[in-house]
Amino acid sequence: MAHLRELTAWFLHSKSINGAQGLEVTLAMRVAVAAQACLLILNLDIDCFDNWVEVILYPGAFRVNHEHMDAMGLMHNEANVLTGESWLRGPVILSWDDVERDIYHPQPGRNVVLHEFVHKLDGLDGVANGLPPLRRGMSRERWAEDFSAAYEALCLQVAAGEPTAVNPYAATSPAEFFAVLSEYFFTAPDVLKDCCPGVHRQLALFYR
Ligand SMILES: [Zn+2]
Repeated sequence: MAHLRELTAWFLHSKSINGAQGLEVTLAMRVAVAAQACLLILNLDIDCFDNWVEVILYPGAFRVNHEHMDAMGLMHNEANVLTGESWLRGPVILSWDDVERDIYHPQPGRNVVLHEFVHKLDGLDGVANGLPPLRRGMSRERWAEDFSAAYEALCLQVAAGEPTAVNPYAATSPAEFFAVLSEYFFTAPDVLKDCCPGVHRQLALFYR
């Protein structure tokens, strides 16, 4: 616990947490974000949070426009309402409403702060693909095997319209799978252990 306090102080000192759309960010809000984010790196190196400096808090869920090119080469502009977003080489953006909801009304498998900062760990090697730089002694092959097997099983369940043990949003991509299953690792480890023991084992080795 003392270490989490130190890490939180380090986070507040080295990162800037700013409000958007007129949101006034208090010390309590900054501590709430920092302490949850630092849970992820409690037993990792602080270098894992090196590749960015800013956290932006919106008062509530926010709208973003994303352009993407489809297989035919046409550009599409999609508007989405998000509770959080993490840029590969940029800020982490969070909806304060949702951060607060996770604090006062926690639900197993749901934590927007953990989710977005897992994307930061994932993107440390330049690509967010569900495979972060692993600890010394861990096997990338074992990680890939355990994650792919569980990811493919979930995608099949979702495609078949079957109920899933974890949030089906995890089936969006390997990066989202890693982020969502990390939410379970910290908030509902038993659910994770039951449904994906291989992934639970890898995450236990990774986060310790
Ligand atoms: Zn995500």
